[in-house]
Amino acid sequence: MRKIISWIVGAAVAAALLPLAACGGEKSSSRYDIKAEYSESEELLRCQMTVTVANQTANAFEKLPFELWANAYREGAKYRPVSELYAPAAYYDGESYGGITVTSVEGGAFSVGGEDENILYVTPEEPIYPDESLTLCMAFEVKLAHVDHRLGIGEQTVNLANFYPILCAVGDGGFYECVYSENGDPFVSDCADYSVELTVPAKYDVAGADLASETAEKKVFTLSAEGVRDVAFVMSDRFTRTDGEACGVPVSYYSLTEEDPSAVLGVACEAIEFCSETFGAYAYPRYTVAETDFPYGGMEYPMLSMISSTVAEAQLPAVVAHETAHQWWYASVGSNQFEEAWQDEGLAEWTTALFMEAHPAYGGNYRAMVNASEKSYRSFFSVSAQVNKKADTRMSRPLTSYSGLYEYRNIAYDKGVILFDRIRDVAGEQKLIKGLRNYAAKYSGKMASPADLIACLSSAGADAEEIILSFTEGRCVI
Ligand SMILES: [Zn+2]
Repeated sequence: MRKIISWIVGAAVAAALLPLAACGGEKSSSRYDIKAEYSESEELLRCQMTVTVANQTANAFEKLPFELWANAYREGAKYRPVSELYAPAAYYDGESYGGITVTSVEGGAFSVGGEDENILYVTPEEPIYPDESLTLCMAFEVKLAHVDHRLGIGEQTVNLANFYPILCAVGDGGFYECVYSENGDPFVSDCADYSVELTVPAKYDVAGADLASETAEKKVFTLSAEGVRDVAFVMSDRFTRTDGEACGVPVSYYSLTEEDPSAVLGVACEAIEFCSETFGAYAYPRYTVAETDFPYGGMEYPMLSMISSTVAEAQLPAVVAHETAHQWWYASVGSNQFEEAWQDEGLAEWTTALFMEAHPAYGGNYRAMVNASEKSYRSFFSVSAQVNKKADTRMSRPLTSYSGLYEYRNIAYDKGVILFDRIRDVAGEQKLIKGLRNYAAKYSGKMASPADLIACLSSAGADAEEIILSFTEGRCVI
């Protein structure tokens, strides 16, 4: 996600077999087959989902946790998706609530729990042992709130992101469960193979999927994708679609208001080309950018970037470049966005600074962006130190520990940019880029820890361990 305010302030179904290929040559651990139909009159998404969970760990899976991100939109949620500051803008109709109701699960007993009714637990009749898999069939309904956000009925678009139960990422410590957060992007998931069929009223177009069939009343859109961390879509009856290509990949821009949509499409194509040349080939067969109702900047999903319709024209190149950089940092190379937000946000923003340097026509440059981040961060530090006596400058911390977007933005984005600039100063741009190329290649389709990033940089001669730790542990003075 990119909060545009930062820029303004600072600078101005039933397949029991494992799927085959995933990005990075890894076998995916799961496969999702989703059939969803949107009822406009009920403001409801009715879904049938078959998910095949394969155990590729050394331990048996006795209970499977799925994140229910859609429940953060329900009335009474403890962890709401929108902060109080942005709620008046996002909830354009006043208070509005959504939520998800799981009506059946075949293949195991189920319950909804977690700290904030945010986890669907499924207990299979027998544990899933290593190298075994299990297929579950679920039915669920997603009620959409009237909100300009990742999931909801917006003023011009219906955003369908984080709408389905998604298996929690699995690591050495087992499944990783976390709550929603109004700060940042709390989504942590492993790559999987997907097949989605979305049926919508005929007036809608769907960004992020292909039109498969249509009648006078309905259209059916489909998406098949291998080795992706998530899937998301944007619906609207006001879209103008402009198509292009970058590095042999079809790129589409769905515009709501742009007078010159080809200009935005051009930035998206240039960003794909720039990141491919700099960090390694784009991992997916398509890329879509959609103008959406969203309270700030943009939001990244694999193969899809949402760009807020509120972004000023002058800021569009930076926002589109930032979200596109996330196709490398978050989508392809996964990291723990809940506890190490800097790892993808800082890198995406620093990549944006590199992109701006290489594309001066957009009016920005590398040094100006780094300087703006330093100015913003120092101001934040000064204010925090005065208000709280001591500023918490740790970067390795859960999203829920941030006092608000101001602190989150300065730590994850601005301090993140400063961090990668410092590494560049010490190791040189060539070694840093080589290290990041190693990082992108080694962890494509996987999850990388900060230690993995450090090791990749070291392998390229960019010894950054002390710099990174002094930043992430809040020890360095900027
Ligand atoms: Zn971002």
